[in-house]
Amino acid sequence: MRTTQNVKAKAKAAAKPNPAPLLVILDNGHGRETPGKRSPAWYDMAQLMEWEFNRSIVERVAMSLGRLKVACTLLVPEDEDISITERIKCTNTLARGAKEEGRQAILISVHANASPDPERPGRGWECWTSKGNTKSDKLAEMFYQEASRYLGRYPLRKDMADGDADKETNAFSLLSKTICPAVLTENLFMDNHDECEFLLSEQGRDLIAHTHTKAIIDYNRQFGTNHI
Ligand SMILES: [Zn+2]
Repeated sequence: MRTTQNVKAKAKAAAKPNPAPLLVILDNGHGRETPGKRSPAWYDMAQLMEWEFNRSIVERVAMSLGRLKVACTLLVPEDEDISITERIKCTNTLARGAKEEGRQAILISVHANASPDPERPGRGWECWTSKGNTKSDKLAEMFYQEASRYLGRYPLRKDMADGDADKETNAFSLLSKTICPAVLTENLFMDNHDECEFLLSEQGRDLIAHTHTKAIIDYNRQFGTNHI
């Protein structure tokens, strides 16, 4: 059962054991039963289920952040789909709670991409923020830097029109209606055979998780107060 009270309790619990100024909120989008959100059924390898992939990445990131003593919480520990409205509400409760504790929350939503046209699979990695010049852009910039380091074998999909690499939209309400810096990563295309193979592999998942952890550390180094 999700109530505002247990969300508040969660914020407090996440805040308590660690004095770090940053609270990292990790979202893994989609649930076990979300329709679509999976790779094609390949003839020569497993089908990728996005809910499982997203969870596998956020769990890896959470583990690394735990080792680095950066406070971190999973927005959706459940396997089922939690509505976007609920996730926005929960993020904002966590962000307010963090602020009361003198800390700053950031939200990272992890996904795998799919092309709208099954005949033309997409290719590459990208990161989204809401429109406008915000602190989310700084976080996204760090993600692009780390992605070029760890996922450089794949194209980085950028929108340089506004002078930075991240792609901007207000279509993702999780980014535009949350009160803390927020980015959404689309980690390669699950409908692309080569990229999907990488997403299914342990090495691929470790590199994607590492990209996230490093970007969070970069952000903490620049905007946090505990210099790890
Ligand atoms: Zn997704």
